[in-house]
Amino acid sequence: MAASNGVAADRAFKAVAPPLYLTSTFAFEGYERNLGHEYTRTSNPTRDLLAETLAKLEGGAGAVVTSSGMAAVDLVLSTLRPRDLVVAPHDCYGGTQRLLAARCDREQFDVAFVDLGDEAALATALRRKPKLVLIETPSNPLMRVIDIRAVAERARETGAKTAVDNTFLSPALQQPIALGADFVIHSTTKYINGHSDVVGGAVIAAASADAEVLRTWANIAGTTGAPFDAHLTLRGLRTLFPRVEYQQANAMIIAGFLAQHPLVAAVHYPGLETDPGHAIASAQQSGFGAMLSFELKGDVDAVRRFVEAVEVFTLAESLGGVESLVAHPATMTHSGMGAESRRAVGITDSLIRLSIGLEAQADLLADLDRALAAAEVR
Ligand SMILES: *Cc1c(COP(=O)(O)O)cnc(C)c1O
Repeated sequence: MAASNGVAADRAFKAVAPPLYLTSTFAFEGYERNLGHEYTRTSNPTRDLLAETLAKLEGGAGAVVTSSGMAAVDLVLSTLRPRDLVVAPHDCYGGTQRLLAARCDREQFDVAFVDLGDEAALATALRRKPKLVLIETPSNPLMRVIDIRAVAERARETGAKTAVDNTFLSPALQQPIALGADFVIHSTTKYINGHSDVVGGAVIAAASADAEVLRTWANIAGTTGAPFDAHLTLRGLRTLFPRVEYQQANAMIIAGFLAQHPLVAAVHYPGLETDPGHAIASAQQSGFGAMLSFELKGDVDAVRRFVEAVEVFTLAESLGGVESLVAHPATMTHSGMGAESRRAVGITDSLIRLSIGLEAQADLLADLDRALAAAEVR
């Protein structure tokens, strides 16, 4: 599906690779007659093929491809009215937290940030009759796992729709619609494209009526993605399954290596049997993914020495690309959160996040081994 959808479907020349329709507008054949496309903000064959492929992979009725992951989150939020309540994870992606807080501040809807893994806190939030429950699993950067089926079922009972940000796993490893979600959100910037050269997003809807509402709103607001980006993203998506498989095999070995290293205090990776999320992840995911984080024994100077000693890993934000990245959440991805909030959700100054890429396993292990030794010096 990922490799084959739209292949050799070109009606003009039977091109095997789907053509890139780099055009803003489409000619009418005559009075009220066109070939199904009028203007690229509304629809474009290249972008539509990416949307169709993502909808099939996630088991949805339809999808909208947006200009970024944040635009995808915002597209789902566009379905809300003033005083509607959104329940969101207390440790959700920083950009999502900022967007929710900013729109709440403008009284476009209300937000409750809740630890979705806390039974009592979830029950209290659901008693407020939310319209939307947002889930991110595994969470960033602590890799906490949320039971999608359980939360979606309880949300539905109270009349709320559920949206799952599936960026960390991709449809290759987790399909939230089959677990009861109404919407799946992606930052296609990450695993879907997988080559760190496009910023993009997508929303997949379980119901065709919801997909139509999203399509209409994306056209109204003009948040649909560019055809060139869609072309590159579809090219990346072709290899999603083998990429993710190789990357998560690498991640499992690295998690095991870190778990036994004397300079590592804790490893957060649901693939480890000792991880608190292991049981749920085993049940709802078809793999454990290639994101993990760990606590270094030592102060911020040790962290500095570690991130400056790596050579195969690159010190950068983002994730899900073919190249391995290392990030320090406290000073990078989660710096905007403030020390207080970071402490509240458990993000320490010695936490280091890894996105595992396609490099040879031995090269990655040697790099980590050397950087840990450098961190230990003094
Ligand atoms: C990166 C990311 C986003 C935002 O996506 P952009 O493409 O950067 O706008 C949203 N959610 C998660 C989980 C992400 O990792």
